[in-house]
Amino acid sequence: QVGSQIVDKKVDSVCPFCGVGCLLTYNVKDNVIVSVDGRDGPANHSRLCVKGRFGFDYAANPQRLTVPLVRKAGVPKDPEALNHLNRDTADWSDVFREATWEEALALSAGGLQNLRDTYGKKALAGFGSAKGSNEEAYLFQKLVRTGFGSNNVDHCTRLCHASSVAALLEGVGSGAVSNQVNDVEHSDLIFVIGSNPTSNHPVAATWMKNAAKKGAKIVLADPRITDIGKHAWRTLQFKADTDVAMLNALIHVVIEEGLADQDFIAKRASNYEALKDNVKGYSPEAMEPICGIPAQTLREVAREFAKAKGAMILWGMGISQHVHGTDNARCLIALVTVTGQIGKPGSGLHPLRGQNNVQGASDAGLIPMMYPNYQRVTNKAAHDWFENFWGMPLDNQPGYTVVEIMHKALVDDSDPHKVHGMYIMGENPAMSDPDLNHARHALASMKHLVVQDIFMTETAWLADVVLPATAWPEKDGTVSNTDRMVQLGKKAIDPPGQAKPDLWILQQIAKRMGLNWNYQGESDGVAAVYEEMRQAMHAAISGITWERLQRESSVTYPCLSADDPGSPTVFIDNFATDDGRVHLVPADIIPANERPDAEFPFVLITGRQLEHWHTGSMTRRATVLDAIEPMATASMCGDDLQALGLHPGDVITVESRRGKVAIHVRRDDGTPKGAVFIPFAYYEAAANLMTNAALDPFGKIPEFKYCAVAIRRGGVP
Ligand code: SF4
Repeated sequence: QVGSQIVDKKVDSVCPFCGVGCLLTYNVKDNVIVSVDGRDGPANHSRLCVKGRFGFDYAANPQRLTVPLVRKAGVPKDPEALNHLNRDTADWSDVFREATWEEALALSAGGLQNLRDTYGKKALAGFGSAKGSNEEAYLFQKLVRTGFGSNNVDHCTRLCHASSVAALLEGVGSGAVSNQVNDVEHSDLIFVIGSNPTSNHPVAATWMKNAAKKGAKIVLADPRITDIGKHAWRTLQFKADTDVAMLNALIHVVIEEGLADQDFIAKRASNYEALKDNVKGYSPEAMEPICGIPAQTLREVAREFAKAKGAMILWGMGISQHVHGTDNARCLIALVTVTGQIGKPGSGLHPLRGQNNVQGASDAGLIPMMYPNYQRVTNKAAHDWFENFWGMPLDNQPGYTVVEIMHKALVDDSDPHKVHGMYIMGENPAMSDPDLNHARHALASMKHLVVQDIFMTETAWLADVVLPATAWPEKDGTVSNTDRMVQLGKKAIDPPGQAKPDLWILQQIAKRMGLNWNYQGESDGVAAVYEEMRQAMHAAISGITWERLQRESSVTYPCLSADDPGSPTVFIDNFATDDGRVHLVPADIIPANERPDAEFPFVLITGRQLEHWHTGSMTRRATVLDAIEPMATASMCGDDLQALGLHPGDVITVESRRGKVAIHVRRDDGTPKGAVFIPFAYYEAAANLMTNAALDPFGKIPEFKYCAVAIRRGGVP
């Protein structure tokens, strides 16, 4: 019994929203989830935030897709129409007609196959999803690699932590975290940078606050001072885009004041002399006018970081979503290395993963340069192993990334690498990509676009075929959280109408493209896919069998045998690089791609908020969450509002060189002067109409955290 309701069953699963990976129980009555309880998982100890506890009824929303849809003959794909589309009232019956599964699958696979056979293997691309399970990610990348014939497969990690992963793979040999979030209970100093954990990783934030209550010092370094700042010992509100200047100044102090851990450096790091030479010019006094933080404060923080028994760095998109995102992360690696703050409890590097399965989807190979478990497609041994394992010839060149695929869709037809067709499973690039007008035109230009989703997303509006899929509580599967925990979710409810499990749809398309797959048995074949994936990722998860997950729900990798409890802290003896040492890479200041000027004098910072998730396709259809935050708002500080003659609640128009939105404004004095913050979850005021598609050269991540905009009073939201 839950409250006054007698439930039919209680089903154990995992929260479908953020990367914290809280375990929960769905309470089900008459095939409807009526409430959610927190479960005693290792990442949450029964805690849930508002999304996990109240964000479940999106699955029962009447706007769910329940039947396959095919674009009506002669109806053009109109990307401009998305600027005025109302998700809640739009009628798709003028654009699409209902189809049988047989017809929709034949059209989906036939169109893709036809393009591949006409234009070659590079003509196709696929976006999988960090919202899907590990098994779905694994099978999707396998379909692209063996069925489409290229490595043009990616997902929203490219918009998230790709630059962090690039730096981590280069520096420490592994893209995952070194220590788990709740290890902060062993930290003296918790350095949070470019992250708003209270909103974006709320349960993780509770561990940080608990640690602060017990005496740990939190340092919040961020251009926006957010809630966690209330618990901070020091807040470093540095000027947006000056991360490298500030971080190099901290490293400078550590070395100059003799606080570097020379023994650790000698035994475990390489290229230290180059790093030391590089930071000589970055004294706090020289960097103060650049980053805006008093030199004495930088010295104080650097000393505390170096002297702490354990100092951990946790970071978010504020580090990664810049053209210098990889350099930012290189500096973080350098800071923990010179201080010896890694490879022990309460220390280390933790890029807080955004989506519930962005870690797992990347691990499973849903990225264009790596096979499962980060084996490079250019590595001959890995290439040969997977050719043998999958029994198909494979491309040995990296594929295009998310934003590159959009560019490649709009190049001239004579380009042999033009992307002509796509299969998109569970992602919404028509809302999440930078420079949306460009991305939407790219999607609309596809000769064949297949979209598989649970709602009619903005991307689905541009599709030729729309395939209705299952929501997370409607299937079994595993996801991997920010802490490297592989966690099992069980099916709680049946999908609506004719909606089908994503794995079933993937296999049907594969079959029609000539692939002979046969995943059957337990959990509708999910167990069979998991076991194949476990073999492909044997160096990380060989000890995590499907049977073990049924018993334990959550196991941390690396885990290499049945009696291996998993490894919460890694790099204790060696790093995962070829020689076992940290590879330090010096970084210098690279300015943002587009800086403010007289015409566009403000900086636009985009991000998330507590109640809504990414493009809002799920959370804005969750009754409680939508009631708390029903409409888009821009945040500005009081000084800027006053200077512009604005009051909270006024409507402003925010415009960049690429697009504009009209939006209500609210006062938030944590937002820096000269900047405006807009969440990207709202189709009515799509922040990404304005963002800049300039990429970090290593991680290929766009600069969502910085572009130039103009702001004026008025407009029609
Ligand atoms: Fe879900 Fe993240 Fe909230 Fe936990 S913290 S309940 S995983 S959204």
